[in-house]
Amino acid sequence: MRDCIFCKIVAGDIPAGKVYEDEHVVAFRDIQPQAPLHLLIVPRVHLASLDEVEDTALLGHIMVTAARLAREHGVSQGGYRVVVNCNQDGGQTVFHLHAHLLGGRFMTWPPG
Ligand code: AMP
Repeated sequence: MRDCIFCKIVAGDIPAGKVYEDEHVVAFRDIQPQAPLHLLIVPRVHLASLDEVEDTALLGHIMVTAARLAREHGVSQGGYRVVVNCNQDGGQTVFHLHAHLLGGRFMTWPPG
């Protein structure tokens, strides 16, 4: 989608710290990390938010990829958090579906 920053990262039109990609998703480092490990897993297809998702296989692939990246980055045993912010009250700021993978520190609850 034109003017979508994550579409541009997926396409390789703007640089990002990519750590993984396959035919369905791209994962890269968050530009403002909130934890020692902070990755974003985004689908190649443009979906504005979780509210638009009907493809359960794609959503499952995003979650399984997050778990796999957590293992590969050494945070799975200690623990980690996967977050999907949806729309304004959910704190979403980039309107291309993405899951945050946060790890490497203790996560408090409830989130702010
Ligand atoms: P959200 O608030 O859930 O929509 O998360 C959007 C995330 O995208 C934030 O954590 C931003 O720091 C991150 N972000 C925005 N632009 C970029 C970029 N160009 N490269 C990497 N991460 C980005």
